[in-house]
Amino acid sequence: MNIPKQRIKISLAMVMPALVSLSILMTMSIMFYIQYKNEKRSLYNNTMSLNLSSAQKMAVTIEALFSGMRQSLRASANNPAIEASAASDQKELQVIFDLMLQSSPYFNSVFWADQAGTIRVVSPVGNNLNQDRLKTEGTTEALQERKSYISAPYRTPAGRWIVLASEPIFDSSGKYHGMIGGTIYLEENNILHRIFGSGAGNGKESYSYIVDSGGRLLYHLDKSRVGENVSSNVVVKRLMGGESGMQRVMNTHGDDYLAGYASVTMNGWGIVMQTSVSSILADVDRNLEEQLRSMLFPIVLMLVIAAYTAARIAAPFTRLYKLTKSVAAGQTVSSEEFRPHWNREADQLNHIMRAAAESLAKQTLSLQQEAVTDPLTGLSNRRELERCLDSWEALRDPYAVLMLDIDHFKSVNDTYGHQTGDQVLKLVAAVMSDDVPKGAVCSRFGGEEFVILLRKHSMDEAYRLAERIRNAILISKTPYLLPLTVSIGVSLYPEHGRSREDVFQAADMALYRAKNEGRNRTIAGVKSA
Ligand code: GH3
Ligand code: MG
Ligand code: MG
Repeated sequence: MNIPKQRIKISLAMVMPALVSLSILMTMSIMFYIQYKNEKRSLYNNTMSLNLSSAQKMAVTIEALFSGMRQSLRASANNPAIEASAASDQKELQVIFDLMLQSSPYFNSVFWADQAGTIRVVSPVGNNLNQDRLKTEGTTEALQERKSYISAPYRTPAGRWIVLASEPIFDSSGKYHGMIGGTIYLEENNILHRIFGSGAGNGKESYSYIVDSGGRLLYHLDKSRVGENVSSNVVVKRLMGGESGMQRVMNTHGDDYLAGYASVTMNGWGIVMQTSVSSILADVDRNLEEQLRSMLFPIVLMLVIAAYTAARIAAPFTRLYKLTKSVAAGQTVSSEEFRPHWNREADQLNHIMRAAAESLAKQTLSLQQEAVTDPLTGLSNRRELERCLDSWEALRDPYAVLMLDIDHFKSVNDTYGHQTGDQVLKLVAAVMSDDVPKGAVCSRFGGEEFVILLRKHSMDEAYRLAERIRNAILISKTPYLLPLTVSIGVSLYPEHGRSREDVFQAADMALYRAKNEGRNRTIAGVKSA
């Protein structure tokens, strides 16, 4: 035999809340994801813009710084005191240069080199620069061309990274006397550190650096990197091309950074301000976490409300299922149980189920009645009679049996036809039903024989009732307008027999006697021997 495979059934009360919860969670996730992406993008852009504007500001500052450096050197170059004391007084020269160094904020050391490149005086004294001649390429060129000069960072023989700026010295007669120079010690406390050291970023997360036109580090938070050539860096390459802008970049350690960069037109230097991507992501994550935390209660509340509503929607269907199950099991279900519902589908289903249950109840009732009723007379049938006797006997209640038979009924049929016979049967049934007391059972026992059961009646009472019925039938109006007679036999339980059969037999015998004694009479039964 082909047995259909049992598939797992999921209840509506579970599916609905699950579905609603799932859609809420998915919507929230998508929302958070989009927000996360947007926040990240806007934070990236903002950071890069901020970095660009910082770098641009720093570039402007450096330009101003350079102008200041030049002016300071030029002022010193034009100082007639230098000219005056140049030939004679070395001590006085030293005093002038020491004073120059103290009054200028720009340089770590200042010096005078004559046209041959020989250092004539340097402050502070004992400085490593204090050597016979300046030998770097740039300085030789500066001495030859007698012009303003700013060097690329270079390492002194003593191993110190420096940048050198110089101005030519001409006396009042226009004679060239070499140059006056100032140096910045890149790795030590210098003007760049004083200006950018604080406020130019906040260490690892955000920091700035300065490169010269050749891509060498002039300024970096990590002083040990000063002088390093970083021209392979994408951003530095752009700076070397004179560009300004912003972009995402990997630093030399492979860390991801958002950089803003600006070049200094005056000297070809470049400034990079950059912020680590990981620190921004950490910010975004923190924000998101905070949002999630603050949204947690509303989300949970929404889920609870959704689950509750979904359960409420599912509830009438579950209820209907239980009611229908009871109806199908043959239990009586009151119409009121099928309550109206705000949900249209549930309400419609309720209406239909109520109608179906009512019609089923009616059908069942009529079937039940049909099963216990004689269709022609409407009296109880023999089955109902037996059922009634069963219950009375179970209670050991005494009862009387009136067995009634229409006299010469065959001749009624024969003379007036079967239909008239049926009418007579109905007439007898109606008269009997009218006369019997409450609680009595009138039944058609078969053909034209009827049985009336009376509960807790004495022979006297039973006999009197039998006679009243017989007389009522006698005076009733028959379809053929002639009087109708019946014979009745009466017996009692338990007087006329311990068993139902004995009691009925006693009634039957009394009826038989009534017939024999001329019909149209009632005979009380006698105790069987
Ligand atoms: P008695 O006085 O001895 O009882 O004579 P009777 O003619 O009444 O008795 P009998 O047993 O000879 O006839 C009964 C008749 O009842 C026979 C049958 O045709 C008729 N009968 C039985 N059931 C019905 C019925 O449902 N309708 C009609 N019209 N006649 C029925
Ligand atoms: Mg008969
Ligand atoms: Mg008869």
